[in-house]
Amino acid sequence: MKIRKGDTVLITSGKDRGKKGKILTSFPPERKVIVEGINLRKKHQKARRAGEKGQIVQLPGPLDISNVKLICPKCGKATRIGYKISGEKKYRICKKCKQEV
Ligand SMILES: [Zn+2]
Repeated sequence: MKIRKGDTVLITSGKDRGKKGKILTSFPPERKVIVEGINLRKKHQKARRAGEKGQIVQLPGPLDISNVKLICPKCGKATRIGYKISGEKKYRICKKCKQEV
């Protein structure tokens, strides 16, 4: 996958369109990612012990990888990623500023 955990991305569709966040988890087989603070879903958490109240917590839900765009840490623009191969290594490069990301 072109986008990895720790990358900052721009959301390009859905209710959180235009927002930015950091990738918390990625699921390469499903081509989905979880972005910090994005696509929040309410989840009811049951009381674990008697006398304790159940509560509602908000958790980020998975997003399709096609709905996010990497924000290049070098030039700060939402960009596409290219690859550069040098010897055995493969680098990701920003298509806008051509720097390694
Ligand atoms: Zn760049």
